[in-house]
Amino acid sequence: MSQISPASEKQILGHPQGLFYLFFAELWERFSFYGMRALLTLYMVQVIFEKLVERDYATAAVYSSYGSLVYASTVVGGRISDSILGMRKSIFLGGILMSIGHFVLAVEHNIAFFLALSLIIVGNGFFKPNISTFVGTLYEKGDPKKDSGFTIFYMGINIGGWIAPLLCGWLAAKYGWHYGFGLAGIGMLTGLIFFWSGIKKGVFGDRGLPPATGAIDKPIAGIKQGVLVTILAIASAPLIAYLLSSYKPLGAEGTMFGDTNIVNLLFYFIGFAVLGYMAYVMVKATPDERKKLFAAVLFTFFMTIFWGFHELSGSVITLFASRNVDLSGIMTAAQTNSLNSMWIIILAIPISMMWTWLTKRKMNPRTPYKFGLGLLFAGVSFYILANSGGSANEDGLVPFSYLLLMYFLISVGELFMSPVGLSKMTDLAPQRIIAFIMGVWFLSSAFAFQVVGFIGKQMAIESSDANIGGFDTLDVYTGGFMLIAKYALGAGVIVLLASPLIKKLMGNVH
Ligand code: GLN
Repeated sequence: MSQISPASEKQILGHPQGLFYLFFAELWERFSFYGMRALLTLYMVQVIFEKLVERDYATAAVYSSYGSLVYASTVVGGRISDSILGMRKSIFLGGILMSIGHFVLAVEHNIAFFLALSLIIVGNGFFKPNISTFVGTLYEKGDPKKDSGFTIFYMGINIGGWIAPLLCGWLAAKYGWHYGFGLAGIGMLTGLIFFWSGIKKGVFGDRGLPPATGAIDKPIAGIKQGVLVTILAIASAPLIAYLLSSYKPLGAEGTMFGDTNIVNLLFYFIGFAVLGYMAYVMVKATPDERKKLFAAVLFTFFMTIFWGFHELSGSVITLFASRNVDLSGIMTAAQTNSLNSMWIIILAIPISMMWTWLTKRKMNPRTPYKFGLGLLFAGVSFYILANSGGSANEDGLVPFSYLLLMYFLISVGELFMSPVGLSKMTDLAPQRIIAFIMGVWFLSSAFAFQVVGFIGKQMAIESSDANIGGFDTLDVYTGGFMLIAKYALGAGVIVLLASPLIKKLMGNVH
C-alpha cells in the first residue's frame, strides 16, 4: 500500500505540488549544464588547446565525446536507479557529482578540466533520467494532466537554459572563466536544495524511494550495494577522463580507423549492439508490436539527425558567433547559447495550443509529418545562416538578426519533434520494454554528438590561418552551413515522402 503523506496530495495550479519542487530542481540543474556548455567550446579553444594549431579540431572532438557520454550515461543511471538506488538517492548522488565537477572546472588546469567533465558526465547520468521519470510518478496512469505537467517541466529546463548562458557568459567575460564555471556549480547546489526541501516537506510521499528488494543494503563482496555504486561512480571518473583526453584519431586519414578516436569507436560498438538487441526484441514481438517498434526506431533515427544539427549550437555555431557575427553592444558569443531556450519559452505554449486547435478540427498532422516538417525547419534555419555572408560588413561580420532568425526556426523544428516524439515513444513501445525504449530515445542525443563531432572537425579552422574572424573563416562556415541545410532539407523531404508508410506502421497511434 502506498503511504502518501497529506503534503504530497496538495495541488498548485491544478498540479501536484511536488511538480514545482522538481521544476525548480531541474531548472537549476539545467542552469548549471547550459551555463557551463555556453563556455565550454570557447574555453577549450582559448585556454585548454590554445597552443595547438589544430585547436578547433581538438575542441570539436572533446566536445563531441563529452556530449555523447553525458547523454549515454543516462541509460546506466536509469538502470541503477531502477534496481538499486531509487530516484531520490540517484538525484542526490548525481547532483553532488555534477556540482563538484563544475567547481573543479573553475581550476584552470588540463587534468582538472578532463576530470571535471567526467564528474559532470557521471553526475548527469544519475540526475537527468531520474528527475524526468520522477515527474511521471506524480500522476496516476492515464491522467490527462500529465502532458501539461511535462510541458511545465520542459519550461523549467529552458528557463535554466535561457538565463544561465547570459549570466555565466557575462561573469566569464567580465571577471574570468572560473567565475562563470563557479556560478554553474552554485546553480546545481541550488537545485539540490530545492529537491531536498521538497523531501523535507514530504511533497513526494513515498515516491522515489529505493526499490522494495532492499538491494541498496545488500552487500556484494562485503560492501553494501548503495555504497558500492557510489564508489564505482567516483572511480569511473578518471577512466572517463582518460577517454575524453584521447581525442586524437586512432589511425591516419585513409587507414582503417581514419579519423576515429576511442570514444567514436565505443559508439560504433554501442550503435551496433543497440540495433542488434532491437532486432532481437522485434523478432520476439507480435506483428503489431513489431510494426510499432519499427516506427519507434525510425523516429529515434530522425531525432538523431535533428539533434546532430541542433547541438552544433554549443560548438560550431558558438565559434561562428565569436568570429563572424556582429555582436557589438548586444551580447557575447557565449551568451548566444541562450537564444534557443529563449525561443522555446516563447513558442512552447502557442505551438501546443496549435496542436489542440488542429485536433479539434481533425487537422492535427500525424507524427511522421511533424518530424518531416521539423527537419525542414532545421534545413531552412541553416539555409538562412548559409546566406548571411552576403550581408557581412567589411570585417566579415554578419548581422545578429541572422542568428536570431536561425534560432527561431530551429526552435520551431525542436517543438515539432522533441516533445511529440517523447510522448509517442511511450505509446509505441510495449509496456514491458518501455524503460529500454526511453533509454534508446536518450541515446539519440548521444549519437547526435557523434554527428556534431564529425561536422565540427570538418569545419575546424587552423590557428595558423592568417585571419581568424575575417572573410576566410566566414566562407568556411557559410559553406558548411549550406551543406548542412541541404542534408537537413533532403532528410525532411524523404521523411515527408515516407510518411504515408510510417503512418501505417503506427496503427492506431496518432
Ligand atoms: N533541451 C533539452 C534538455 O536539455 C533536450 C536536449 C537534448 O536531448 N539534446 O533536456
